[in-house]
Amino acid sequence: MKLYELYEKAGYPEYAARTRDCATFLEFATPEGGERKLRTANFCKLRLCPMCIGRRARQNVWKLSRVLDMVEAEHGAKFIFLTLTMQNVDGEHLSAALEQLTKAWDRFARQRPVARSVKGWFRSIEITRGDDRYHKDRKTGRMVFKADNGYHPHLHVILAVEPDYFSRESRKSGKYLNQSDLVERWRKALRVDYAPSVQIETAKAKRKGGGVDSASLAAAKEAAKYPIKDEEYIDPDLPEDRAVEIVRDYTEALRKRRLMAFGGWLKDAARALDADNLEDDGDLVHVSDDDVIRDDVKLLIERFDWHFGAGDYILASREISVPLKDMRKEKTE
Ligand SMILES: [Zn+2]
Repeated sequence: MKLYELYEKAGYPEYAARTRDCATFLEFATPEGGERKLRTANFCKLRLCPMCIGRRARQNVWKLSRVLDMVEAEHGAKFIFLTLTMQNVDGEHLSAALEQLTKAWDRFARQRPVARSVKGWFRSIEITRGDDRYHKDRKTGRMVFKADNGYHPHLHVILAVEPDYFSRESRKSGKYLNQSDLVERWRKALRVDYAPSVQIETAKAKRKGGGVDSASLAAAKEAAKYPIKDEEYIDPDLPEDRAVEIVRDYTEALRKRRLMAFGGWLKDAARALDADNLEDDGDLVHVSDDDVIRDDVKLLIERFDWHFGAGDYILASREISVPLKDMRKEKTE
């Protein structure tokens, strides 16, 4: 509802209506003896919607992690996780900055030493906001906007390299790209005269809540984070006119922009797994294959509708669906 208000005030009535109606009904299916799974819902699929951001991110992590698993299994690939940055920009220049980032990435990947060492890649745009600074006005006691630190657009990148990439031979032959090589290559690609920040990590398995993620899952989680964070405009401490401005800046900058892309080994694997459509895949209902319920099993269907007055989902109907198999049988017999 907060995003609905912000979209209205920012001059996007159509987006406002879509986000207001996001997930107003949820239909769950429970196979006999199984767990309740989401089967149908009306998600708005807008890039700034907190509900849809979360589901899309989960879906992307799952897909990307399978792509990395495949590349690891087929090529014995090792993965390097890079964050490539540029200087902060203001809202007016955000769109141009994203354009510059993606073009710079293409130039970076085509540079001969990079193309020789890197066998596959995934890149994803992320925008974070520099903290706004406020100070308290002595006379009125109100918070007054002082300085805008702008937006911080950057790329999260996964590079796939050959198994011997970290070996002594590879370092000797110049196949291994060290930190200063990468900074210099990225500076050239960005066509700037400052040294941009480049962070490098190798993907390592992460331990969380007792379980152990595979290295590829850990890397996927880092890289497939959603391009923006909803707490940057849905924040009770943020003055509303500022939040409206941010929603407008993000909406304009992200419009029709491809935020994620694959290359080389990763592109081949993504195509093979039908996972190369991380953004335009409209299905936010089935966030992993575990959630897909075969239609030929007997199902209990429960439908919940959102009641604005009650501020909660209310069970609207409960029925046992006719299994499709039986339906077909009835027709032919
Ligand atoms: Zn939504």
